[in-house]
Amino acid sequence: MNPGTGRIAAHRGGALEAPENTIGAFDHAVALGADEVEFDVQLSADGVPVVFHDATLDRMTDGTGPLAARPWAELRGLRVAGAARDGIPTLQAVLERLAPTPIAPRMELKPAPDGRPFDGMAARAIAALDRHGLLARTTVTSFFVDYLREGPATALPRILLVNPLVFRCLGGLPGLLPAAERAGTRHLALPIGDIDAALVRAASAEGLTLSAFAAHRADQIDAALDLGLPVFTTDRPTLALERRALRTGTPPSPRTA
Ligand code: FE
Repeated sequence: MNPGTGRIAAHRGGALEAPENTIGAFDHAVALGADEVEFDVQLSADGVPVVFHDATLDRMTDGTGPLAARPWAELRGLRVAGAARDGIPTLQAVLERLAPTPIAPRMELKPAPDGRPFDGMAARAIAALDRHGLLARTTVTSFFVDYLREGPATALPRILLVNPLVFRCLGGLPGLLPAAERAGTRHLALPIGDIDAALVRAASAEGLTLSAFAAHRADQIDAALDLGLPVFTTDRPTLALERRALRTGTPPSPRTA
């Protein structure tokens, strides 16, 4: 990957530019011309795949307590903080919205409140992608090896997200190799602040691809571009597209979605 050409993934639709993980945020990411749109999936108490980041409702909605304890009939009535009309979307609603657009979904599978994978969630989410014709342009991500290592996820490009504390506790890249092996992917992602040129070279020598998440400031976005990472997530896709356009000499081309 040439420096300056990395793909830009609007994190939760661009969480510093629109209320995160809402249809409005996803429309925003599409309209900007972001390459990818990242969103988080978990299950309601009655097994409906919904798009929401936190394990609890408190920070981002007018509800309280664990999301996974509420059936969809209750979740659908909640309002998302900062959004005029948007509530928590179902995965189905998000995929319906993205399917007719050129944006590439980047679907993160979140754990259940007990820290384990939601039973059957990966299979249901991937079946939904298939129904919407999105399998060919979706990447599945997770911090949890178990979501990536078996079943239908193995048919898709996968990125193992790495918590920086875990990365340090494992002693860096060599300590991650068994996890990558178990996850069945050679693509790992770390926060941009934990990646430098030496680490990118070391990963490459191990046959690993490294990419970044949480590149939100201009200097972090520039670092991701300078390092030639294939993709990075950002809460500020507008800024990232502007920074990349400065390198390539082509202005961002907003879509009239
Ligand atoms: Fe996420």
